[in-house]
Amino acid sequence: MKPSPDKITLIGAGLNGPLLAILLRQRGFDVEVYERRPDMRQVRVNAGRSINLALSARGIYALQQTGLWERMRSIIIPMRGRMMHSLAGELTFQPYGQNETEVINSISRAELNIALMNAAEEQGATIHFNQRCTGYDMETGTIRLREGNPRSETSCQPTVLIACDGSTSAIRMAMLKLNRFDFSQQHLGHGYKELTIPAGARGEHLLETNALHIWPRGNLMLIALPNIDGTFACILFLPFEGPESFASLNTPEQVRAFFQSRFADAAQLMPQLTENYFANPTGSMVTIKCSPWHVGGKALLLGDAAHAIVPFFGQGINCGFEDCTALVDLIDQHGSDWARIFPEFESQRKTNTDAIADMAVENFIEMRDRVADSRFLFRKKVELALEQKYPKLFIPKYAMVTFHRIPYSVALARGTVQDRMLEELCESIHRVEDLDWKKADQLIHRNLTPLEIPQ
Ligand SMILES: Cc1cc2nc3c(=O)[nH]c(=O)nc-3n(C[C@H](O)[C@H](O)[C@H](O)COP(=O)(O)OP(=O)(O)OC[C@H]3O[C@@H](n4cnc5c(N)ncnc54)[C@H](O)[C@@H]3O)c2cc1C
Repeated sequence: MKPSPDKITLIGAGLNGPLLAILLRQRGFDVEVYERRPDMRQVRVNAGRSINLALSARGIYALQQTGLWERMRSIIIPMRGRMMHSLAGELTFQPYGQNETEVINSISRAELNIALMNAAEEQGATIHFNQRCTGYDMETGTIRLREGNPRSETSCQPTVLIACDGSTSAIRMAMLKLNRFDFSQQHLGHGYKELTIPAGARGEHLLETNALHIWPRGNLMLIALPNIDGTFACILFLPFEGPESFASLNTPEQVRAFFQSRFADAAQLMPQLTENYFANPTGSMVTIKCSPWHVGGKALLLGDAAHAIVPFFGQGINCGFEDCTALVDLIDQHGSDWARIFPEFESQRKTNTDAIADMAVENFIEMRDRVADSRFLFRKKVELALEQKYPKLFIPKYAMVTFHRIPYSVALARGTVQDRMLEELCESIHRVEDLDWKKADQLIHRNLTPLEIPQ
């Protein structure tokens, strides 16, 4: 493609902003990014919500497109499955996929952010820090920017604006004034808090390294993801209100007693538990859906700005990175015909982002509750056995979402059909060996067509 004269202005240098900047620079566009925070490479800032992320197929594909994936390998830890911790401290390991290639990858949000910003700048994008977008005039296309210190407001009029400014997007806020703009936001009654399990004396991990650890406790849960420095980034999910909730844990004694009764094996690995608990903020989790995502061919919402989802499928950034690759695919087809690209982008992506938003909420119940249930674990084994025999027809929903780039809406629809089949097949058996393969064959061929699997 010929370099375009268009300059593209991005708001937000979180995760999607710099990734998109790289992909756009690779296509010859001038790219400027405005970020409200200071430069985290110079000033230590809170990297934001969740210190670790699970990267999977869609995120990896996007990083491969930028040429960054091989560099990332040194800062990721593959997690091969879930390690469940029972109340009594017993461990059960459940693999995520069929083999060693079907893993999810733990990566520090800050390290990923820094690597993306470095690469975006190496490619020629300019990132302006301490520049908060405070408003967008949809008539003139003007954005207002405020510098943190000293406080001063400037404005500019981008030719093309892409909002990558996350779930509280200032551009989306301005778009609320659009005629017939649909918007919904749904908060969970649960919040989250980041905690840490430090490394052992020789820098080693104190729990199994290649696993995502889960302490499922019905209405609440703790998870831990490994870091390359031997620590684990933990996230505690608790209701905001109620007997066992953030509202009920107000003193170090209460926090210690609660952890002792619910997560005793983790508590003994957390010498700084109460300090971390009271120093770290309690975050909230929200699903945001809206439409349209664009103002004509002038401005577009992308990533969490367009569709924030709750974190229980580990897909927020994977989905956002897929937005970026989908957008540049359209640019490759239509050049800089933004008035055509933006609506087409939304119509391609929206059914899929709605689908992953719904699956992410469903998965909360699965993670905090059902993973502790032996029947659920048995069904997972049956799913893997069916996939082995019918790899083009039956792929577990988790695998369609995580290990493939099968559209999320297809994963949701097929997952629902497969769940009904599994119900029937597992009804009266307790061992995979007892599976009625004839019935399975009939059900699969009657209900499922061969899948198109994007490479
Ligand atoms: C607890 C938790 C765990 C998660 N775990 C996972 C996971 O395992 N895997 C996964 O894929 N996803 C996960 N996510 C989701 C993931 O973090 C988000 O989907 C992702 O960060 C969205 O990227 P983004 O670039 O759209 O927005 P953000 O990462 O929020 O970045 C937005 C950027 O815009 C800047 N900004 C905001 N407003 C303005 C403004 N007005 N002016 C200028 N700049 C502005 C912000 O400072 C920020 O740098 C998790 C989320 C949470 C809350």
